[in-house]
Amino acid sequence: MRIDKLRQAMTENELPAVLITSSPNVFYFSGFTGTNGTLFITMDRKYLLTDFRYIEQAEKEANGFEVIRVDSEPSVEIGKLSEGLQSIGIEENTLSWAEYRRFKEAAGNCRLADASEIFNRLREVKDPAEIEILRKAIRITDEAFAMILDRLKPGVQEEEIALELEFSLRRLGASGRSFDYIVASGGRSALPHGVASSKKIIAGEAVTLDFGAKYQWYCSDMTRTVFIGQPEAKYRELYRIVLEAQEAAIQALKPGMTGKEADAVARDVIGKAGYGDFFGHGLGHSLGLEIHETPRLNTRENKVLEPGMILTVEPGIYLPGWGGVRIEDVILVTNFGAEVLTQASKQFIIID
Ligand code: ZN
Ligand code: ZN
Repeated sequence: MRIDKLRQAMTENELPAVLITSSPNVFYFSGFTGTNGTLFITMDRKYLLTDFRYIEQAEKEANGFEVIRVDSEPSVEIGKLSEGLQSIGIEENTLSWAEYRRFKEAAGNCRLADASEIFNRLREVKDPAEIEILRKAIRITDEAFAMILDRLKPGVQEEEIALELEFSLRRLGASGRSFDYIVASGGRSALPHGVASSKKIIAGEAVTLDFGAKYQWYCSDMTRTVFIGQPEAKYRELYRIVLEAQEAAIQALKPGMTGKEADAVARDVIGKAGYGDFFGHGLGHSLGLEIHETPRLNTRENKVLEPGMILTVEPGIYLPGWGGVRIEDVILVTNFGAEVLTQASKQFIIID
């Protein structure tokens, strides 16, 4: 099915073959989970090139692929397979300069063209099995959030919280974390990307937690800002605006809308409240085998939302040197609107 769709896209793009090198794409198109694998797919053949460690696993996982053993790098073999072909689609964003040079040399007169957009596009709409896995990944994340609330108290380091979160997620069945966790307390909560540091949490501070699980190769992602004791009154105002922006965007989201239009709904709410200059990032991103996939929700995204897409909705307001608030849920685009998959509370949480 995935290969049929891929071949259809290859035909439309006049590519008689593609070379797939990044592990998410290798997994998506073949099912192979080893750390060394390259796919070479033509209109009637499909090959998986890997080294001796993975031959057995490759034959088991990559159904219908001809497994070729390559004990050094695969360019010579790719050169042989591409004989007589006019062009090959490659992944320009994940291929190293050295790999590109070797493939180019091996491919001879055959033209190499970037096919990343073809692969990205095929991964945008999730199938029912992928949606089930993502639901589970998100459920695990919700549970880990509920568990961490007890651990948040003055004197605890941000890094300890990040570690606890990962530990809970793994106990709940995750294989790891989906990115470097953000635990940003006090003034650091103004950093949209404040990765957990050695800073200790102090009473009265806001703490932004942005984290996710890797579960059966799929990523989850959520953010909540919570408060350790009574925060300054201004935080209530910011929280109310961010939540209103997020809920307005979720309400409005539906198939047929562009990423830009969705972004504008939240941006309008924050802009009208007077904080437009302090929401400096896009509203959200798709996620799946990778934490950031296409389409995005931002001021430039012209791609149209379709049922089966899974995206985050994560507006924020960040006041430099003071603090910030972000709220992030994952949603599924349905036939008529959006279903919120994240279940964690969005109330203004004060931990005493
Ligand atoms: Zn996040
Ligand atoms: Zn995110």
